[in-house]
Amino acid sequence: MDIHQKNQLNKLLIIWYSNGYRKLPWRTNPSLYKTVISEFMLQQTQVKTVLPYFEKWIKTFPDFHTLAKASDESILKHWEGLGYYSRARNLHKLAKVLSSLPSIPKTPEEWQKLSGVGPYTAAAICSIAFSFPIAVVDGNVIRILSRLFAYDKPLKNNADAVKIFTPLATKFLNTTDPNTHNQAMMELGATTCLKHSPLCTVCPFVTFCKAAGKGIQGSLPRLIRKKTTQLTLNRLWIQKDDCLLLEQIPTNAARLANLYELPSNANTQIPLTNITPTATLKRAISNQSIQENLYQIPLSPSIKTIMHKQPHWQWIPLSQIESIALSGPHRKWINRLLKQGLFTS
Ligand code: SF4
Repeated sequence: MDIHQKNQLNKLLIIWYSNGYRKLPWRTNPSLYKTVISEFMLQQTQVKTVLPYFEKWIKTFPDFHTLAKASDESILKHWEGLGYYSRARNLHKLAKVLSSLPSIPKTPEEWQKLSGVGPYTAAAICSIAFSFPIAVVDGNVIRILSRLFAYDKPLKNNADAVKIFTPLATKFLNTTDPNTHNQAMMELGATTCLKHSPLCTVCPFVTFCKAAGKGIQGSLPRLIRKKTTQLTLNRLWIQKDDCLLLEQIPTNAARLANLYELPSNANTQIPLTNITPTATLKRAISNQSIQENLYQIPLSPSIKTIMHKQPHWQWIPLSQIESIALSGPHRKWINRLLKQGLFTS
């Protein structure tokens, strides 16, 4: 790619973006705060999932100062169902730090020192909010560049891909308008240079794109697939009067800290071999395929003894289920089972 080609492609990209980018709420009256919240929410999560969460979040926590003063419970509740809950905790910490600083940091190096901000997020925040000349390198950008230049070598994983494509993305960056350039690249990847069936006929790069020219765009980038691992979890449905037994994940847990779930049978001696599960929930997280079996267990004296040894198990009145923070899949599961009349008083 010579400088002439680069300038031409950069120009085509900006024209394409200006002609019809999606009017997302963080792009309307943009601010540093909206950029930060959207970038945290969009990590590993699709735009359509983020939209209702973003709107509600901005209404409740309109700025860093309000967010810094909010309770852990309220933040967790507003994040409920969005997954990857460490993002919410990191946002809270970040808001507290930013509120205490005399001035807002403006460089990617400074932002990377803050909770939950890695190289990608720092580049996105600094280029969008401060026009800092740094290229973002995410899955969208890697897909576009690998196709544009027909890079067909295998990539071990995302980290490997980021390392390989960062120099090219940096060279390709439109340094006069890094904000629009980065947003346009992300938009092109999200709406046009799709993983499956890219829409090449409406792409601004089509006449230059080497992969499209060779007809190999669908096979790039060549990321080596990780093997899928299977995980089976047994869960318990135990009720008493108008309360359901739930487990609150410990504060120091790596995942889902402080959220509630149906109790796991992993640490108890409750024999389940001769019982048929009442329901089964299947889902996939990354390269893990998870099956959760739910067993309805009567509250017997032996169960009560077991319960006393489980410090994180709690009776939650049905009337409070809506107000506590449940993990997303368990919220859906419990609501469905309650509707089906599994809870009998
Ligand atoms: S021409 Fe097709 S493959 Fe190439 S960058 Fe555009 S959408 Fe992607």
